[in-house]
Amino acid sequence: MINKKRLVDEFIELVKIGSPSKSEGKICKVVAQKLTRLGAKTELGPVGKKFGSNGSNVIARIEGKKGVAPVLLNAHLDTVGEDFNITPIISNGIIKSDGTTILGSDDKSGVAIILEIIKIFKEQKIPHPPIEIVFTICEEIGLFGAKTVDFSKIKAKYGYSLDTGEIENITTAAPSHNRIYLKIFGVESHAGAAPELGISAIEVASKAIASLKLGRIDKISTSNIGKIYGGVATNIIPGYTEIAGEARSHSEEKLKKITQDMLKKFREAVEESEKTVKGKKIIARLEEKVVNEYSKFALSENLPVVQKIIKAGKKLGKNITTLQGGGGSDANVFNKAGIQTAVVGTGMKKVHTKEEYIEIDSLVFSANLLLEALRLN
Ligand SMILES: [Zn+2]
Repeated sequence: MINKKRLVDEFIELVKIGSPSKSEGKICKVVAQKLTRLGAKTELGPVGKKFGSNGSNVIARIEGKKGVAPVLLNAHLDTVGEDFNITPIISNGIIKSDGTTILGSDDKSGVAIILEIIKIFKEQKIPHPPIEIVFTICEEIGLFGAKTVDFSKIKAKYGYSLDTGEIENITTAAPSHNRIYLKIFGVESHAGAAPELGISAIEVASKAIASLKLGRIDKISTSNIGKIYGGVATNIIPGYTEIAGEARSHSEEKLKKITQDMLKKFREAVEESEKTVKGKKIIARLEEKVVNEYSKFALSENLPVVQKIIKAGKKLGKNITTLQGGGGSDANVFNKAGIQTAVVGTGMKKVHTKEEYIEIDSLVFSANLLLEALRLN
């Protein structure tokens, strides 16, 4: 069984090392040292300079039973936002921050659990499969670390990403995700003296947005307009507006359709802006960019990677059920690279907010669950 005190101490130590995305330099070094001390062959991936990080992925290999398929274990080293100085507080079986910052259990809980499992295997000489650990950077800002892993060097064909809250579930599916960036160029004019000469970029954007179907589109798809920016002054008809949104779906086809439908509404609104001023036609202009952030995955419940967790749960007296997730994570990238990767919960709650917390019992359960699953072969 997991050493509760050691796991909590490790978690607290990791949380105290501030590591917002792009500033993972310190935690990378600390974690790499810990893994090396535990006997893992550890290497730091290329520094994430390309995307502005001073850190790098930490890849570690631990030998295991001969003739047994290796397993990949993953968590991310970066935390959301800008918080560096995190003061964790333990009270009534819960770990939280002092309320001025996030806690960073997303995803230090995953890192701490993986380290504890390696310690248990070593300490108790428990036979286990060969393990490949991939700790990534810049997960929160676009899965950049995972996307730069050299998969030709990864032997595992299945694995677990510890990067969600619910300990009663195993996430076996996640959607594809498009980000949509739009720029509308209108025609500036004095709002009081010559409104006839202008085309309001804000008005065009508003008409398009008002005609969009947003939120939960159907059981497997969502869409959102998340940012809008534009205009200079109240007395100027705005000549420029920027809009950013997204769409997600567990079906590639639906994602394509939702994305195209969104773009169509903007194109239509731009077309409708055409008017004739002093015998000359003027019209707004649209620039659009769609970025596919990551691709969906869906693992069948019958796969050993899923069954191992369900069986381990039963052994620990818990009924673990499969869940279709709504967000993306490193697991999307690993699955795309051909590694069947399910997402396991660590107990983290209210992540990405200052109210973030984790129950110690959940953290310990999650560690025991993964430990049991890795012993099943
Ligand atoms: Zn996370």
